[in-house]
Parts: sequence; structure tokens; C-alpha cells
Amino acid sequence: MIKKIVIIGGGAGGLELATDLGDKLGKGNQAEITLIDKNSYHIWKPLLHEVATGVLSEQADKIDYTTQGQQHAFQFIQGAFTDLNREEKQVIINNSNNESVSVPYDILVVAIGSTSNDFGTPGVKEHCIFLDDQNAAIRLRETLIAKFASFCSIIDKNEAKDEDKIRIAIVGGGATGVELASELPHMVETFGSCGRNKMCSELLDVSVIEATDRILPALPEKTALGITKTLQQRGIHVLTNTMITKVESDGFYPKEGNTINADIMIWTAGVKAPDFLKEIAGLESSRSNQLVVKPTLQTTRDDNIFVIGDCAYAMQDSGRASPATAQAAHQMAKICYENIIKKLNNKPMKLFKYTDNGTIISLHDTAQGVVKIAGKGEMNVKGFFALMIHRLLYRMHQASLLGIVKTIRFVKASKQMYKNTFTSIFTHQD
Ligand SMILES: Cc1cc2nc3c(=O)[nH]c(=O)nc-3n(C[C@H](O)[C@H](O)[C@H](O)COP(=O)(O)OP(=O)(O)OC[C@H]3O[C@@H](n4cnc5c(N)ncnc54)[C@H](O)[C@@H]3O)c2cc1C
Repeated sequence: MIKKIVIIGGGAGGLELATDLGDKLGKGNQAEITLIDKNSYHIWKPLLHEVATGVLSEQADKIDYTTQGQQHAFQFIQGAFTDLNREEKQVIINNSNNESVSVPYDILVVAIGSTSNDFGTPGVKEHCIFLDDQNAAIRLRETLIAKFASFCSIIDKNEAKDEDKIRIAIVGGGATGVELASELPHMVETFGSCGRNKMCSELLDVSVIEATDRILPALPEKTALGITKTLQQRGIHVLTNTMITKVESDGFYPKEGNTINADIMIWTAGVKAPDFLKEIAGLESSRSNQLVVKPTLQTTRDDNIFVIGDCAYAMQDSGRASPATAQAAHQMAKICYENIIKKLNNKPMKLFKYTDNGTIISLHDTAQGVVKIAGKGEMNVKGFFALMIHRLLYRMHQASLLGIVKTIRFVKASKQMYKNTFTSIFTHQD
């Protein structure tokens, strides 16, 4: 009988896997490939801060799952994964009609990514905005624009005092917090250029709050200090050694020192796998709810279930699990693809070994980071060259989904579409 391969989560890892398996097995009817996602379209998560600040339009840059499935021989079901029945080999989803339905599988891949971790800090859920998916990014953009618009009308009525500012505080000095902060001054300037010429980046008061002694722990100290300097030159406060213990409607309360008052509070301090994944159907899970996998990426307690990306806990020789990054999700998708084919052919499987190719942080019109080259060590990269590499990573992800020719066409079309959506985002919302 034809095997049913079900992939849950069409993100950085899952959509690449569904596309590759569809091309290889779906097209020849050697297996039935199904992708399930709670959303109807894919946006590459590392660019969510650009969606949130209007630099990237979700309309122009989205990949529609149904269309992708038609072109790459997989079927798409929109629904949220809620439970798993391993005995019956069925996943339970809440479909787009809000009905609970079961989807049978022979091989299952869980690739549902991660969500923000508030580490149990009181008030975070009630008062902070997260950047977990495209819907959250769109909500953040709407909140920012609404705040800019209301501040603008205060200025127009001459009711603003000299010291009045739009206070935005971001907890978490990782890539997400830093990249988001660096887009905000540009966002206000763009807002100002769309008919509100009194709005400028000087009216912003942005803080990045970090519990440890420096931002960007994944980068060498020198590079992280360089990025801190760039942020400070743009008027962004970088508050290190600042552990937030409570959040209330007026701001963040650190363990020591004064309250950090803010109009908009954003929480980007770490991730965990969704809570419902913890020990789901008796599978082994980590402290952050990730499902523990063997080096083949199969779960430790069920060989028919693979896990990739942020929700996989894949221990490495270094004694640490592979990181929750798009880079790791992409590498896992490639190994998982090969291992599923090997499993179907009863061949020995490959072992996943994470390769760190470096980290680049985009800072709106520049970027900074390190690139690691096998056998040659680490190279610091900075400026336009680093920004180009950062951009190239996104285009490589698109090329693996669409092919090179379509990616070039996509880039051209999205640039045009982007201009239209960009203007409408900033001009029609008051
Ligand atoms: C702003 C930002 C910047 C980042 N920058 C970088 C970077 O520069 N480099 C880097 O390597 N990484 C970066 N990351 C991290 C990177 O985005 C993630 O590690 C990566 O996307 C994980 O891939 P994934 O496939 O595991 O999950 P995701 O890409 O998050 O995909 C998960 C998919 O599962 C779906 N889903 C979730 N829950 C359910 C459910 N219950 N049912 C059905 N579907 C579900 C989601 O809709 C989504 O499509 C960044 C993240 C953010 C937020």
C-alpha cells in the first residue's frame, strides 16, 4: 500500500521537506505527502521583524501552501495540531472549520517550531507582544502604526511636551530583539515620509533589555560589542545585566533599579516548544518541551516519528543540543528527507550533525557577524557585504522552495508589489 507521510508545520524546515519529498515521491505516486499548518501561507520566520516594521510585505513575500503543494505534489490541510494517537497512527488537528479531525500517517514529521518563553515571569502574557508568527508580526505592526499615528495627532494639536517620546522596550538581546530594534528608527522615518513630516526617529525611545552582561551570546564578544555600538549610535539604549522579574501595564520591573516605563512592550527573551508537545503520546521531551530525537532525527520512543527544527532536541557531540535556528532547521530537513527515503527502502540512515556556518545580524541598512568556513575558521563580516550574505540566505531558502528561475521572477514581482503594499500600510492607517 502507498505510504502516507504527514509533515506538521510548513516553516523553515517543514516546507523545504514537504517540497523535496513531494518532488521525489509524490510526483511518482510512490508516497502520499501531506503538509499540515495552522496558517495558509509561509513567511520565513527570520524576517518577521521586517514584517512587523513594514520593511517586508507579507502579501509580497508569502508562499501559499496550496499552490506550493499543487506544484510539488503534496496535499495541504490547514489546521492546528493538537494531539497525537500513536497506537492508531493518527494526528489530531483542529481544522479551519474549527472541527477536530484525525489524519492517518505511516511516517510523521513534527516541525511546528517554537513559541516565546516567558520563563514564568508575571505579567508578560498580559502586557507584552511576542513575535511568534506572521499574525503576531502583523499585530505588532498595527500596534506600532496606531501608536505613531496617535503621537502624531498629539504633535499636530501642539499638545506634545518636548520630553514626550514613543517608548518601546524589548526584552531579549538575541537576534530577534536586536534586529527588531534596529528597524524601528527607519520605520518611524518612513511613517513620517508618508505625509506625517513631523514624525522622526528622534521621537523614539527604544531600549533593548538583556539579563546577561552582553547581547548576542551566539556571537564573539568583539562582534557583539561592535553591534552594541551601532545600536547606541542610532539612539537605541542597550541595558545589560538587567533581569526583568515582573511586567505591569506601565513597564518592565527589573530585579534591581528603576522601572523601565514603556508604551509598547515586546518580549523576545528566548523560545520553547509549544506546551502541548511536552511528553505528547508518551514521547520523550526536554525541559523546553522539545521532542528528544536520536541522531537519525527519529524520536527516542517511536521510529515512525521524526522531529526537525526548533521543536527537536538533538544532542550533539559537544554535549549541547543543536540550536533553535533556521540554519539548523534547514540542515535537519535535508537529513530527514534522506532518512525517510532510506527508511522506505530499508537502508541504514544518516546521522544528523549540526554544522555552524556562522551568524549574521541585520541592522536595517548594514549587518555584522561571523561566517565559518570549514577548515578555515571564522571570518568577521560587516557592512554591505554582510548584508548581502544575510539577504542571500533568504534567497537560498526561497530557491530551495521555488527553484532559481522562479526565485528571480519572485524577487522582481515582489519588489513591485512591495512598493504598493508598503505605501498602503503606512498611508491608510490612522
Ligand atoms: C525575528 C527573528 C529573527 C531570526 N533570525 C534568525 C537568523 O538570522 N538566523 C537563523 O538561523 N534563525 C533565525 N531565527 C530563528 C528561526 O526563525 C527559527 O529557528 C526557524 O524558523 C525554525 O524553523 P522551524 O521549521 O523549526 O519552525 P518555523 O519556521 O517557526 O515553522 C513552524 C511552522 O509550524 C506551524 N505551526 C506552529 N504550530 C502549529 C500547530 N500547532 N499546528 C500546525 N502548524 C503549526 C507554523 O505556522 C509554522 O509555519 C529568527 C527568528 C525570529 C523570530
